[in-house]
Amino acid sequence: MITPNLVDPFARAITYLRVSVTDRCDFRCVYCMSENMSFLPKAELLSLEELDRLSSRFVALGVRKLRITGGEPLVRKGIMTYFEAMSRHLASGALDELTLTTNGSQLRRFAQPLADCGVKRVNVSIDTLNEQKFKDITRWGRFAQVMDGIDAAQAAGLKIKINAVALKGTNDDEALDMVAWCHARGFDITFIEVMPMGEDMGDGLRLDQYWSLDDVRETMATRYTLHDIPFSTGGPARYVRVEETGGKIGFITPLSHNFCESCNRVRLTCTGQLFMCLGQEDEADLRKVLRSSEDDGALDRAIRAAIARKPKGHDFDYSRQKAGGTMTRHMSHTGG
Ligand code: SAM
Ligand code: SF4
Repeated sequence: MITPNLVDPFARAITYLRVSVTDRCDFRCVYCMSENMSFLPKAELLSLEELDRLSSRFVALGVRKLRITGGEPLVRKGIMTYFEAMSRHLASGALDELTLTTNGSQLRRFAQPLADCGVKRVNVSIDTLNEQKFKDITRWGRFAQVMDGIDAAQAAGLKIKINAVALKGTNDDEALDMVAWCHARGFDITFIEVMPMGEDMGDGLRLDQYWSLDDVRETMATRYTLHDIPFSTGGPARYVRVEETGGKIGFITPLSHNFCESCNRVRLTCTGQLFMCLGQEDEADLRKVLRSSEDDGALDRAIRAAIARKPKGHDFDYSRQKAGGTMTRHMSHTGG
């Protein structure tokens, strides 16, 4: 009998799929997109039915957690049809968790329908609590709208985690206040090191902005007592508990501490390419297989063949003058 589980050449079980459902977004964050991004023609995108079929194959092969991302997942037309379809895997017990990463702009409209589909947690990306800075970072974002979306998510009973990219010279002066704000509202917060995605954005920008999370942690320790805890949400973040607030702070440190040895995930783009590693170019064209045959067996074989090529890790490196391991594609394409 064929075992359903996906295991890569380094004995890592692949149980987590991130699905980018669109490359479009209503924001233009400076580290993620250029202001005049050109987006893919619709025919290139997987339809909602194709996204369902492909995601469901991964679930059948042992994926237990789906995180929906983008671009901004909630600007994809008809996206609730896909969430509703995936909720059947929660109901059957095949899936442990269905969740999403969002900029929060559309949560007022979607929080309750998401909760109705069995979504329990959302990650909302906010790098600052200062309205002007928020505008500077997101270019097109409206801070009040995101705050309202967060209120709606809380009212719908969704557990919220805030994701903040640590940006030197931008939010280093308010990181402590962001922790205080999050913990006062019952949210955990995770800091992420800025990664060299999208080569047209310039290496200089990355190196200037890079704020090592070792330094962020030191900053946190000036106000708070931090205790390392073994908590995990199945992702790469390492967590501390803050004695004074009882809340958690996560650190995602692709640069300063490589976490590839425990990687359990792969990423599906909105065009059906499977990236086995965020920081490597190798990919598998699952859309081609999907569109060439109704046979799920062919898809399963293509997925297994891709997992068999999962590399050991990424090559991001800021230790030299130039950002090493830079990826030509944007985060919004691969799905952050
Ligand atoms: N639009 C949604 C959002 O912003 O949450 C989902 C997609 S976005 C690409 C996912 C995450 O990637 C966000 O938390 C964003 O801050 C992060 N991100 C984007 N570009 C990044 C970069 N170059 N380095 C580190 N994180 C990045
Ligand atoms: Fe859009 Fe998210 Fe990228 Fe910002 S980080 S531009 S919200 S996809």
